[in-house]
Amino acid sequence: MRQKRQQPDVTVIGAGVAGLSAALAAADAGSTVTVLAKASHTASNSYAAQGGVAAAVGPDDDPSLHVADTLAAGRGLCRTSAVELLAAEAPARIAWLRELGVAFDEGLSLEGGHSRARVVHAGGADTGRHIADVLTRRAAEHPRIRIEEGTRVLSLEPFRGAAVVLATGGYAALWSRTTNPSGATGEGLLLAHAAGAALADLELVQFHPTALRDGNAHDGFLLSEALRGAGATLLDSDGERFVDELAPRDVVARAIAARTGTRLDLREIERDRYPTLMATLVRAGYAPADEPIPVSPAAHYAIGGIVTDLEGRTTVPGLYAAGECAATGVHGANRLASNSLLECLVFGRRAGLAALDGPAFANACDDLSLTEKAPGEMLWREAGLIRSAAGLRRLLDAPHPLARLVATSALAREESRGVHFREDFPIADEAFAGHFVVQPDHEPELQRWS
Ligand SMILES: Cc1cc2nc3c(=O)[nH]c(=O)nc-3n(C[C@H](O)[C@H](O)[C@H](O)COP(=O)(O)OP(=O)(O)OC[C@H]3O[C@@H](n4cnc5c(N)ncnc54)[C@H](O)[C@@H]3O)c2cc1C
Repeated sequence: MRQKRQQPDVTVIGAGVAGLSAALAAADAGSTVTVLAKASHTASNSYAAQGGVAAAVGPDDDPSLHVADTLAAGRGLCRTSAVELLAAEAPARIAWLRELGVAFDEGLSLEGGHSRARVVHAGGADTGRHIADVLTRRAAEHPRIRIEEGTRVLSLEPFRGAAVVLATGGYAALWSRTTNPSGATGEGLLLAHAAGAALADLELVQFHPTALRDGNAHDGFLLSEALRGAGATLLDSDGERFVDELAPRDVVARAIAARTGTRLDLREIERDRYPTLMATLVRAGYAPADEPIPVSPAAHYAIGGIVTDLEGRTTVPGLYAAGECAATGVHGANRLASNSLLECLVFGRRAGLAALDGPAFANACDDLSLTEKAPGEMLWREAGLIRSAAGLRRLLDAPHPLARLVATSALAREESRGVHFREDFPIADEAFAGHFVVQPDHEPELQRWS
């Protein structure tokens, strides 16, 4: 029997682009919405996003080409129905952001893996900040949305009786070397799992090829893909180019990891287009006009997450998920650049709308007890760019529950595909062309999604 819904109608946990898209969609449709976030919106991954949002809005482009590029990057693991929806709804989401007041720059950027220039950006490499600021303002002034920052949710029990949308972001900050703000530790995944929800693709974590290699406060600072799209080149320790800079991220990242001393040469590009990036490099002590910048890969994007359908429904009634914390299958085994903010916009909205009419969340669930510090170094060593059974087995003893689930899933995937590289199984194997789904207290089970 359906449990009666209580006020507010919808509770959204997370105030990044996914959570705010869900909140605005639900509130515009008449619902009252509470948004809870553990930190200020300036601490989210959304705020940190640099490059932009992919959408087939150029005169030579079409959503079918965006679909084809996304499927090619995803190495046989994309859920085609999710990709088609993503690409088809992208132009309307960009138009919506413009209506709300996001001032996109002129022109479109070309990024790795895209066959057309299709990435819209704002403020050069400040796209996330521009979008997050506008969405936060619109949500704050909405008469039916209440935002509470500074509330860290460690149990879903108090939310029984409302529809709950998890938009808590990814878990790449669990790795010691990361581009992510420190809050991206996957708490939403653990909350969902504690309520009985299935997780999937946990072994699929994308490493960005070009994060500042500095050893100091700015270590891990992202040097956006847009720079390579604009002509920046990668040089080895002899000053020679060694890889196609616009190849998919996993290819570029492993090429860099295979050598030491890689630098990104920004001397020939129009650096004025990226004022914030250049200012950060100068603050960190570099002179991008005169010298190539030391870079190496860092954990960047969590493809894995809470299993959802195309409306953001998890496997638990009344519980929804969207954005980086969700696993829609849209990214397959390798996310195409600038598809993730788009995922937040498209599936955040859909989750907010689905939550309006669905049942209330009613499952009993335990509180999270996250007393242990994340084993960042261990994850980097045993579940980094190059993995093996021996290292992953060591990770099964990690004190952090999500690190153990990553290890279990990465051990199960006895192949190399997209972002997941096993030196003991270095090629892709059709037998694994599916998603490893983890139900609470069960071993990962391979499922095929269409
Ligand atoms: C440096 C960087 C650059 C990027 N550049 C791009 C780009 O150019 N284009 C692109 O498409 N993608 C980019 N990405 C990826 C993209 O930014 C993210 O995938 C996306 O912003 C995720 O949005 P989200 O709303 O799902 O989560 P987030 O924006 O991470 O928001 C998560 C929210 O959940 C809250 N939260 C988390 N746990 C809890 C809890 N337990 N209780 C309460 N609140 C909680 C947080 O406080 C936050 O409000 C980039 C990422 C990084 C790190």
